[in-house]
Amino acid sequence: MQRIVPRCIGFAPRHHSRIPFSASRQFSISIPRRANTLMETSGFSDTQLQVREAIAKICSNFPDEYWAAHDESGEYPHELHAALSKDGWIGIALPEELGGSGLGISEATMMLHTISESGAGMAGAQSIHANVYATQPVAKFATPEQRKRMLPKLINGEWRVCFGVTEPNTGLETLKLRTQAVRDGNNYKISGQKIWISSAQVATKMVLLARTTPLEEVKKASEGLSLFFIDFDPKQPGLELKRIRKMGGRAIDANEVFFDSYTIPADSLIGKEGQGFRIVLHGMNAERCLLAGEALGLGYAALYRASKYAKERVVFGRPIGMNQGIQHPLADAYMHLEAAKLATYHAARLYDQSMTDESITQTAVGVACNSAKYLAAEAAFTACERSVLSLGGMGYAQEYHVERYLRECFVPRIAPVSREMIMNYVGEKVLGLPRSY
Ligand SMILES: Cc1cc2nc3c(=O)[nH]c(=O)nc-3n(C[C@H](O)[C@H](O)[C@H](O)COP(=O)(O)OP(=O)(O)OC[C@H]3O[C@@H](n4cnc5c(N)ncnc54)[C@H](O)[C@@H]3O)c2cc1C
Repeated sequence: MQRIVPRCIGFAPRHHSRIPFSASRQFSISIPRRANTLMETSGFSDTQLQVREAIAKICSNFPDEYWAAHDESGEYPHELHAALSKDGWIGIALPEELGGSGLGISEATMMLHTISESGAGMAGAQSIHANVYATQPVAKFATPEQRKRMLPKLINGEWRVCFGVTEPNTGLETLKLRTQAVRDGNNYKISGQKIWISSAQVATKMVLLARTTPLEEVKKASEGLSLFFIDFDPKQPGLELKRIRKMGGRAIDANEVFFDSYTIPADSLIGKEGQGFRIVLHGMNAERCLLAGEALGLGYAALYRASKYAKERVVFGRPIGMNQGIQHPLADAYMHLEAAKLATYHAARLYDQSMTDESITQTAVGVACNSAKYLAAEAAFTACERSVLSLGGMGYAQEYHVERYLRECFVPRIAPVSREMIMNYVGEKVLGLPRSY
């Protein structure tokens, strides 16, 4: 914990790390509201606010021009990853005995949110995103020996991890995935194909979901999948990568990954063979919270720029922001972001509390995390689109950055699960309607 809180904002004692959201106010500390943000920060715990301030300080070394240039060149933001890992931030939600901070997804969401809101957008957040959530199932289900072997070097930034679930032929039908891990003595041999794997060009490890029992041989499709933490080394036989050219967040590579009898040791298996889907869900709910936070960050960043521009730009003898046609859409977008913010931090809190409170069901956590991701992604899209339009022609110009945010804010609408699949899920699990897919 001590490592992650910079000296300039004081030290959050360990017992603060679990301050419940509602009780946090009695510990209230004075953290000045930054001038360049619109988000209302009351109601957050002191720890969350300290995370926010510390991360904003690091991100202030990475101005808009850095992100515009990296978006243009497609170069990975190594410097941000290095700055965050140097101060221990990658381990924010990992156990203290492994070098982490022992905080929760509530704080990790605030971290990713603040990175995105700084102007770094999805690209900045995604430079560490997988390292934060894909390690959650490893921390929970790996043996103590595996945890010690797998996590400390990710926390200190020596290693980076990518997350291998999506496949080209099965898409959102995750349970039908076909990549196989076949036991061969003390090894498994992996064969199959993954797609859209972020950061695979810079990762040295992968958290991989693969079939250990063919689909045809299991009673339920959710059985027979297994989770692995593997060495990811394209120099070894049986592993190839191909970068995908994409619309936004171009500093973070996305890839097709081809396995052809790629050999991994048997002790790469996390938890029991065949239980991988249940295990990986643990990381997937965390990821939905983080992505919701990242979307919120983009939305607030866009809205900040749009309202600043609308105050300064004078046409027909008045600032354009004096026109309700400009002002109201931005005010409406702000309210949607604030509502989505509440849903996001509610979901993150439920996720964290469900670790120790058995009365919180995994269905409740799943519904909250999916709903938060949906609402935040939609609110961010509205804010980004309206911000581009509020800037008129300059909204379309690279130097004003809102076009970059608009391109990036499609990602939380599509991944890791689409809007339609979230509505299918809520329709079935909450409304009790017939399963539609
Ligand atoms: C930038 C980016 C980064 C990513 N990073 C990773 C990563 O690191 N690791 C990883 O594993 N994956 C990653 N993904 C993959 C992402 O999770 C998938 O793209 C996403 O889950 C959607 O799957 P798909 O593209 O195969 O869509 P498809 O399954 O092909 O679906 C296409 C469309 O059809 C709709 N649809 C399909 N079936 C139904 C239905 N029954 N009812 C209603 N609508 C339906 C979907 O909602 C969607 O809009 C990334 C994707 C992107 C774009």
